[in-house]
Amino acid sequence: MTIPSHAPPRTIDVALGERSYPVWIGPGLLRDRARWRAALRGRHALVISNTTVAPLYLDRVAEGLDGLQWSSFLIDDGESHKTFANVGRALEALAQLGATRDACVVALGGGVVGDLAGFSAACWMRGIDFIQMPTTLLSMVDSSVGGKTGVNLPAGKNLVGAFHQPRAVVADTDTLATLPEREYRAGLAEVVKGAAIGDPAFFAWLEANAAALNAREAAPLIEAIARKVQYKAGVVARDETEQGERALLNLGHTFGHALETAGKYQVLLHGEGVAVGMLLAARLSERLGMSAAADTQRLHRLLDAVGLPTSIPAGMDPEQLLALMRLDKKNLAGTLRLILWRGVGRAEIISGVNETDVMAVLRAATR
Ligand code: NAD
Ligand code: MG
Repeated sequence: MTIPSHAPPRTIDVALGERSYPVWIGPGLLRDRARWRAALRGRHALVISNTTVAPLYLDRVAEGLDGLQWSSFLIDDGESHKTFANVGRALEALAQLGATRDACVVALGGGVVGDLAGFSAACWMRGIDFIQMPTTLLSMVDSSVGGKTGVNLPAGKNLVGAFHQPRAVVADTDTLATLPEREYRAGLAEVVKGAAIGDPAFFAWLEANAAALNAREAAPLIEAIARKVQYKAGVVARDETEQGERALLNLGHTFGHALETAGKYQVLLHGEGVAVGMLLAARLSERLGMSAAADTQRLHRLLDAVGLPTSIPAGMDPEQLLALMRLDKKNLAGTLRLILWRGVGRAEIISGVNETDVMAVLRAATR
């Protein structure tokens, strides 16, 4: 089914008082300037994008910026370009533009661009507006919503950043047509995660609609994005700065980061690491008597159905994975602190997890 682009977009509000903002989801939104132009308050705009996305979609945004003083700053493609050096260049571009405090940064791209652009906006004159225009599934359902911004250091990913909420999120689902298959599936992992943590009805819906999602059918895809964003928006509204509940969004991430790092970021995409990581977290939870085998099986089947990996890549060493897990930011005072699972729709943060149990799960999953 195709969605006519004059149909109204799905709109989800992130409720943060005066800093509340809409997330619009639907086809044709980049060209729908009547909608997003109101979020630009001043005369200056800097569009930050990358060398892959800009040739595809910058012209659509440019039409909407007509009449403003604006320019674009493009970074090279890839996680390795989410750096301080590029924040510095973005700030130089704002200076070149003569940007005042009512200037707006527009982030057009995936999570790398969004994190860097948001952080640049947080820094310029101690914080100016920015608009997220996510173009990957992962950035639509995850990184563009919630206000975490930042860059990497050689010492580690996302070590520097700020909470800085966007003024609006413009998720034009037409852009997903050009997204590479693996990136698309990696985004689906973060969709499954939201359902697994907090929305059992959505989990069942995903089970029923996996084939349509694999085919990127417009209506189910928009529904899936909207439901995940709805879930995340609720969590963010209740716990903006991750004092509690927001940490649950890290289900599968301690295992996942260890898998990504062990593969030197060349073997698994983040979403793929999260997929395997969620399943390992489910197995550990089952082993600890927190959840039932039937729930683990449902998760395994759903991940399979949307084409995500479910096993530890060949050649990875369980001892090394455990050592990497010990470095996780969530740990306290030398004990493992993990997000574990109470079955479909419920997650919980657990401290003092026994390493013997973690090791048993890692060993059993190693080929
Ligand atoms: P990405 O930004 O690297 O995009 C993935 C690839 O797709 C890139 O090669 C990109 O150029 C390309 N691409 C983007 N849109 C395209 C399109 N429409 N058509 C064709 N190609 C397109 O990766 P991502 O998965 O979007 O984001 C990952 C980043 O997000 C990481 O840096 C991660 O730390 C961050 N992140 C942040 C948060 C947060 O809350 N701020 C949450 C999750 C992830
Ligand atoms: Mg993630």
